[in-house]
Amino acid sequence: MKVLVAGGGGFIGGHLAKRLLDEGHEVRVADVKPIDEWWQVHGGAENLADFDLQRREPCITAVDGIDHVYNLAADMGGMGFIENNKAACMMSVLISTHLLEASQLADVSRLFYASSACVYAADHQTDTDVTALREEDAYPAEPEDGYGWEKLFSERMARHYTEDFGLITRIGRYHNVYGPIGSWIGGREKAPAAICRKVAEAKLSGIHEVEVWGDGHQTRSFMYVDDCVEGTRRLMDSDLAEPVNIGSSELVSINQLVDIVAGIAGIEVERKHKLDAPQGVRGRNSDNTMIQRELGWEPSITLLDGLTKTYEWIEAQVVASAQTV
Ligand code: NAD
Repeated sequence: MKVLVAGGGGFIGGHLAKRLLDEGHEVRVADVKPIDEWWQVHGGAENLADFDLQRREPCITAVDGIDHVYNLAADMGGMGFIENNKAACMMSVLISTHLLEASQLADVSRLFYASSACVYAADHQTDTDVTALREEDAYPAEPEDGYGWEKLFSERMARHYTEDFGLITRIGRYHNVYGPIGSWIGGREKAPAAICRKVAEAKLSGIHEVEVWGDGHQTRSFMYVDDCVEGTRRLMDSDLAEPVNIGSSELVSINQLVDIVAGIAGIEVERKHKLDAPQGVRGRNSDNTMIQRELGWEPSITLLDGLTKTYEWIEAQVVASAQTV
């Protein structure tokens, strides 16, 4: 199989490309970033760097001769990024649109689209004591402003390319993915990476204080990247035509997340709450009934196991960057 990983210079795409190479596929990776900014560069892949998939021509080149497309390319980041860059997030619609059109013209047989839990209606997520989100809760539509609207629209586009042109599409709604070899500093990092970095900095400096956005009672589930890649591969090869949650159902508060990371680091930390920082919805969890029923599988790597590997990698980055200052 010849596969394209769009956005494969990014966090999840880098891990997915490795998995596809390990499975023996011919892999092409395309990303807008210069290659020295990719999280992983796989020697066995064909790597197209500085490749802007918001434009039509590069999409046509990228899908040429490809059987399966994985679209993980998006201009995105954690809450701090998506709350302050709504237009940029929505511009990713050009990537989804051009990739769908180019795939249809090139007779690509299957396309995966990385959607998000941010498609879900806000009024289902106002409480820390959440009812887990079922796939049908995306409608009536009231997604996360900017980023979530783009994801919901692109899901819909994929559905209509299936209906109108017969292009087989698979849509995974990822819930908070974390792990090593991804953003951990600079403003695009998400809560688990940010907390790991802050705890590692506290450990290194001996000042055991950690800034936490909001009161820390907001709840989330976090999925380790290996589960994300496994779910993506299972969904791509399945008959499941509907969008499906790919997320952990292990719910924690952000304060609990801090405690777990501090425990891994072997220190005690004092939390300093920044109440005016972006926090997103009050509570969110993944209902995994559909993925269990349809794929006989759900993410199972515990937060403690996944964070242990993630913290180890981020602590090494913090130590290395302190040594270069
Ligand atoms: P990431 O930012 O690490 O990777 C996205 C990649 O897309 C980046 O390398 C970026 O350079 C690339 N990209 C952006 N614009 C591009 C363009 N115009 N042309 C080509 N490449 C472009 O993010 P990630 O965490 O790996 O996320 C991958 C996908 O999964 C995204 O679609 C994201 O919205 C979705 N998702 C991620 C999470 C999560 O928690 N990480 C949760 C839900 C959904």
